[in-house]
Amino acid sequence: MCDGQMRERLIWQEDELKSVKLRVRTRGVKCDQCGYQSVSVGQMAEYGRAVADAYRQAQGLLTSAEIRAARGRLDMSQQEFADYLGVGIASVKRWEWGQVQEKSLDRLMRLLTDAVQAERSARHLRTRVRRLKRRPVGSADAAQLRHPSARSIARSSSGPRGSGKTAAR
Ligand SMILES: [Zn+2]
Repeated sequence: MCDGQMRERLIWQEDELKSVKLRVRTRGVKCDQCGYQSVSVGQMAEYGRAVADAYRQAQGLLTSAEIRAARGRLDMSQQEFADYLGVGIASVKRWEWGQVQEKSLDRLMRLLTDAVQAERSARHLRTRVRRLKRRPVGSADAAQLRHPSARSIARSSSGPRGSGKTAAR
């Protein structure tokens, strides 16, 4: 222990999230004498978000601020945005608060909020489909697509519902 004073500072903190090592810039407290630094209880929520954002940046995912900005560009409330994406409002709140979103939902957010990305994706998709159409389809592939067993599987899976009801009573 030293007699230094803990002062609020922007500090660099080493941390790890989902096995990714991160250097996080966050608000913390630092001793003006020995340089000991820490994050106080009152700074923990902000720190949690900083860690999540550092992770998201490292993984190429939208950060909390970017998600809020994307929603803001569309002038949507959290509820409207949740409906628009087809998720619960709790998810939107968690992401904006600092919980890391699934990669699939990150992709969905980009496709539905960023016209440039959506156009790029559509272009890519069209090119790919066009290229596949040009390629001669093997007769085995074509036969598989029309295989009757796919339909009979679907029929049999819906079958037991009715019979199960009568068996239960
Ligand atoms: Zn000290």
